[in-house]
Amino acid sequence: MTASLPASLWHFLSREVALVCDAAGTLTWVDDRAVRLLETGPGQALRSLAAQGTEDKVDRLVTLSRDERVERWEVILCVGGQPRTFAFRGAPHEGGSALVGSLVTEDYAASLSQVSETLSELASLHRETERQQRELKRRADELARINRELEESNRGVRTLHAELDEKTESLVRAAEIKSRVVANVSHEFRTPLHSILGLARLLLNPANGSLSPEQQKQVQFIRSSGEALFELVNDLLDLSKMESGKATLRPVHFGAGDFLGALRGMMRPLVLADSPVELRFETPPADLALETDEAKVSQVVRNLVSNALKFTEKGHVTVTAERGPEDTVCFRVSDTGIGIAPEHHAHIFEEFTQVESPLQKQVKGTGLGLALSRRLAEFLGGSLTVQSAPGRGSTFTFTLPRVHPEVMEMVGMTERSQQLEPGRAPVLVLEDDRQTLFLYEKYLSRSGFQVLPVRTVEEARRTLQRVRPAAVVMDVMLEGETSWSFLSELKSNEATRDIPVLVVTLMDREQKARALGADEFWLKPLGEEQLLRKLAEMARSGPVQKLLIIDDDEVHRYLLRQLLRDTPYLLSEAGTGPEGLRLAREQTPDLIFLDFVLPDMTAFDVLDELKADPRTRDIPVILHTSRQLQEEERARLEKGTSTILAKHKLSREVAITRIRDALHKTGLGTDRGESRRG
Ligand code: ADP
Repeated sequence: MTASLPASLWHFLSREVALVCDAAGTLTWVDDRAVRLLETGPGQALRSLAAQGTEDKVDRLVTLSRDERVERWEVILCVGGQPRTFAFRGAPHEGGSALVGSLVTEDYAASLSQVSETLSELASLHRETERQQRELKRRADELARINRELEESNRGVRTLHAELDEKTESLVRAAEIKSRVVANVSHEFRTPLHSILGLARLLLNPANGSLSPEQQKQVQFIRSSGEALFELVNDLLDLSKMESGKATLRPVHFGAGDFLGALRGMMRPLVLADSPVELRFETPPADLALETDEAKVSQVVRNLVSNALKFTEKGHVTVTAERGPEDTVCFRVSDTGIGIAPEHHAHIFEEFTQVESPLQKQVKGTGLGLALSRRLAEFLGGSLTVQSAPGRGSTFTFTLPRVHPEVMEMVGMTERSQQLEPGRAPVLVLEDDRQTLFLYEKYLSRSGFQVLPVRTVEEARRTLQRVRPAAVVMDVMLEGETSWSFLSELKSNEATRDIPVLVVTLMDREQKARALGADEFWLKPLGEEQLLRKLAEMARSGPVQKLLIIDDDEVHRYLLRQLLRDTPYLLSEAGTGPEGLRLAREQTPDLIFLDFVLPDMTAFDVLDELKADPRTRDIPVILHTSRQLQEEERARLEKGTSTILAKHKLSREVAITRIRDALHKTGLGTDRGESRRG
């Protein structure tokens, strides 16, 4: 217990202090308790321990006890800042005095009660701490319990998740199987149906022998049933294509006027000359043009018109096209037909749904048309809605982006690729699937590459004339063509054979790809990391090749800059010889364009200095000059330069070819300077 008592309490419990002082009253020795209680030590004057105003009494104690024994001499000393009464006994000692003071009882009692108060405070503090500890433990137990419960429910959720995942997977698989079965069965249906329809047509042709009227009627039935079935099969096939995401977008540019004109020609035969229903096409704004899948737009509008004609007994069916909000186009097909009750509005867009009506029984239909139309509308980034009431006719509105979002993205991407970004290594991507192109662009642009997207071999060839890419990523199965020949072209051409080519396609044709020179072959789909790692490794060159132009003529430097715009070269310029040499040493460019005539140094001097420095010794130099060179000058220059180029002959093509040749000669074309720079 005492061991844990605070020092201040200890002071109170020690009741006596022993002191020795010299004749002047300066302490020469004090005992431990005095040290602790009075916070004093040898060297201090005893009077300085006295409570204020009582110093004299202390002095007198000193003087008296120097000569004789003194008993019960009460003085007030400061203990912890508080005045406390001590009863002193004193006796002469070595010219000074020895003193023993004892706290008088009242003060000792007061101190003791203070101690006990503090102790009881401590005890209650201790009790409180214990209570808090118990509370903490209770809470910790509670937390542990909750944690256990949470873990259990977590396990439950995880199991549920796994089950859900499994269910989703099996549903997806079921949906896939359904789509595949529908697609396959539909395909299989079409062939025999073609034969049935062909044979029916043959039978009905009087040139092939006549049928009895009864037989003719029967064959007519076969034919119309066959046609209905054919239509159903076609709709099913289209729907399954949309569902399985296999539908492809074939965007074209077309005017709304031409589009409705063609539609009119197609639909007119459906309305008989004496029909009480008039089919009207309103002329759209002359400059309204779309860039989207025309065939799919046509399929939707045709379907709406044919429905409108089916469910309209008299009056008219009107087709319009106009601009909608936010660069959209609205096609509207309105009729004066039987109309549709609001409660059926949502259902008619479901598969195999038809609204009961006397007219319904008389017309043909599969109940798939609107379902397919809505899917098509959504595929085109648009929507299909209906406004109708029974007996009041119907208006179907098909709204779609004037330019398909994918086309917009593609345009943006192509535009971005027109300007080469300095510091980004260009990668030519030959891929007909826009989605995949977008994906590659996203992957590559994050990592310092610039995608040059092309969708046909022809476009790829054109881009190669403009840019030398750091790598080529290509699909070999393109829409309407394969790119095998392009691959072999790339790899057999001197100028391009060292560009790394990565073939990514759907079919395993690795052997063929490798045989034609592909540096890598991968099956789709390709992950980001996989692609980037490989590209970084292949296009080891770093982003661009550096060119230094040393020429005092500002106009000529400008000209060169313009000629080399959109090339993968990073240009730096110097207007004087020394400046050029400094930059050459600092930047170690891959190539130097050097003007023959400089104001401060001759080209010979610059060349000599370049050759003298190991850092710049191997940099190829293209010397360009507007002067006719002397034979000996030429001979001398040819030793140190890769090419001599007449300024007046300089064109973009010449410049690029010469640069490529020069880089190629030093091996930069293949290992991109790794060896030179070490
Ligand atoms: P169907 O092959 O039966 O025409 P759709 O999916 O095209 O299939 O249409 C579904 C149903 O919606 C039709 O059967 C008809 O009941 C109703 N419907 C569609 N268009 C109209 C219209 N213009 N007027 C009245 N009812 C219509």
